[in-house]
Amino acid sequence: MCPNCFEKEYVSFITLEKFNTFEKELNKKLDLENGLFFSRVITNPEANSTYNMYTCASCDEKWYLLPHDTANPGFFLGQENYTIFSDQVNKINKKTKYRTYIGCLVIYILFAIITYLILEY
Ligand SMILES: [Zn+2]
Repeated sequence: MCPNCFEKEYVSFITLEKFNTFEKELNKKLDLENGLFFSRVITNPEANSTYNMYTCASCDEKWYLLPHDTANPGFFLGQENYTIFSDQVNKINKKTKYRTYIGCLVIYILFAIITYLILEY
């Protein structure tokens, strides 16, 4: 990550308002000459989800967005945390598909706690 990147990751947007605020910031970055570039839509068949991937024009960091909607709070994660998240989701889905929602919830809560601890201290 570099100064042009996002400073904050969102494990969960929780509310539509939070997502809308974030989206304004995202669009501002996309408009900037040296900001983020929309790269492509990627699918994770194991998680049955589609994400938007953005690349920082300065440092090449990858960012992954799952927009907030009625079924999912969504997230915005850098490469490292997205990989952890994605691996966890894939592992859980391979073991027990019917427990996907519980697994995701646990991961969301863990990320929320970790993020909270990082931001607070
Ligand atoms: Zn960057």
